[in-house]
Amino acid sequence: MVAMLGPFGVALYLVMRPRETLDEAYERALGEEALLREIEEAEYCPTCRHRVKADYQICPNCHTELRTTCSNCHRLREFHWDVCPYCGEP
Ligand SMILES: [Zn+2]
Ligand SMILES: [Zn+2]
Repeated sequence: MVAMLGPFGVALYLVMRPRETLDEAYERALGEEALLREIEEAEYCPTCRHRVKADYQICPNCHTELRTTCSNCHRLREFHWDVCPYCGEP
C-alpha cells in the first residue's frame, strides 16, 4: 500500500497504524483474559489430578466424590461448606 500511494500512503499508514495496534492489543488482552478465566475455572480431582468440571459430583477417572448434594434442595455443595448456600441447610 505504501509503495502504491507514495507519501500519502505513508501518512495513511501512520494514521491507521496506532488504531490497529490498539485493536490488536485489545484483542490480545481479551484472549489472555479468557485463557486466565479458563485456568481459574479448571478444577482437578484431588486424588488423581484428572481434570474435572466445576459441576462434577464424582471424578470420572477414579470415582472420588468431589462434592455432595444438599439433603434439602439437592443442589451440589462442596464438602467444606458447613451450610448450603442455596437454602441454608446446615
Ligand atoms: Zn480422580
Ligand atoms: Zn440446600
